[in-house]
Amino acid sequence: MVPYFKIDEKLLALSHRAEELARAGFGKIEENQRYNQQKMLAAFSRAGVSERHLFGSTGYGYGDQGRDVLDQVYAYALGAEDALVRWNFVSGTHTLTVALFGLLRPGDKMLCVTGTPYDTIQGVIGLPGREGPGCMKEYGIGYEQLELLPNGAPDYAAMEEKITPAYKMVYIQRSRGYSLRPSLSVAEIGRIAQIAKRKAPGCIVMVDNCYGEFVEKQEPTEAGADIMAGSLIKNPGGGIAPTGGYIAGRHDLIELCAYRLTTPGTGREIGCTLGHSRELFMGAFHAPHVAGEALKTAAFAAALFSLLGFKVTPAPEEARADIIQVVELGDPEKLIAFCRGVQKGAPVDSFVIPEPSGMPGYDSQVIMAAGAFTLGSSIELSADAPLREPYAAWMQGGLNYHSGQLGMLLAAQEMLDAGLLQL
Ligand SMILES: *Cc1c(COP(=O)(O)O)cnc(C)c1O
Repeated sequence: MVPYFKIDEKLLALSHRAEELARAGFGKIEENQRYNQQKMLAAFSRAGVSERHLFGSTGYGYGDQGRDVLDQVYAYALGAEDALVRWNFVSGTHTLTVALFGLLRPGDKMLCVTGTPYDTIQGVIGLPGREGPGCMKEYGIGYEQLELLPNGAPDYAAMEEKITPAYKMVYIQRSRGYSLRPSLSVAEIGRIAQIAKRKAPGCIVMVDNCYGEFVEKQEPTEAGADIMAGSLIKNPGGGIAPTGGYIAGRHDLIELCAYRLTTPGTGREIGCTLGHSRELFMGAFHAPHVAGEALKTAAFAAALFSLLGFKVTPAPEEARADIIQVVELGDPEKLIAFCRGVQKGAPVDSFVIPEPSGMPGYDSQVIMAAGAFTLGSSIELSADAPLREPYAAWMQGGLNYHSGQLGMLLAAQEMLDAGLLQL
């Protein structure tokens, strides 16, 4: 049944049960794939993408129409007024940082309403213990946060109390990051935006949309958020963009971000695309489909590892607002074996044995399994895990469901081979 890989018979039998369980949710995933693929195709058509847009400029990149048309494609596909899409964004963190510094000024205050932000963003803000050179705190930009409720849901009542015009920005992280909380649905983000606008009409509602793109039919900017940002080596690059990020939202705010990305005065008018435009367009085109494949892989992983007796978040049948699947392995050896198995299922570097190590921007050791065409791409099948309680793997991606499913089976097989699982 898997003629090219050695998978234990009992594990295979379990895998069939897992697939049946997961299939219950595939109808909804495919419906969203279909809807968002149409949305994307309509965006290409409306923006008038043409062959000449696929070739790059050099130097300052003045008058690069491909660059401007790509901005339009993302704006239409994400239901936003405007977008800034550049390969020059070196990571998701950089993209979010450009937006934060583009929008906030010394003396402004930012309120994060979704608890402690993603690890790398903590250093950008300058949270206690993470006040490195160049952080927002050093520039006199204030920060406060509201915790989520114990069940991980947004605390709307606390927001009603806390949000006042004293805050320039209300910041929302959609995805779970390295936490066990649920991801926020677009409807929940919309409700937060509504509260924020009522309590502080002039505030900017910003969303860290990493891992959320094309998971639902609507994006946060279609539900009341002013601006959002994400990485092109996650969902919105379709596994083809080799690097980059996007910011999408209100036109006036996008302009401010562009002045921060390049220089005041030049903004989005400059920035050559070299030879990257074709891949960025192709990636955008594939993104809705690929996000769905990653969701199917996640649903299968949830089913398989819950049948194997592990706690999984979200549960196989639970609604998803990001592509991340958490598998709580509960012990470092199992976690490391899981990551080794995922690596064996990779198209690139399948022979590499991942080891835990320190990573810039993270405060505990991290083990990562990723044999990707793009270094660090997490829309390709990958698993990341900080070596700390509860020894959980955060897995995500899968360019197509069949390879993603096999990767998850190999993760279980590796644990079995190491004597860490009983069937
Ligand atoms: C991935 C991610 C980031 C940062 O992106 P990098 O590309 O790793 O810098 C920020 N926030 C969330 C929620 C993420 O998942």
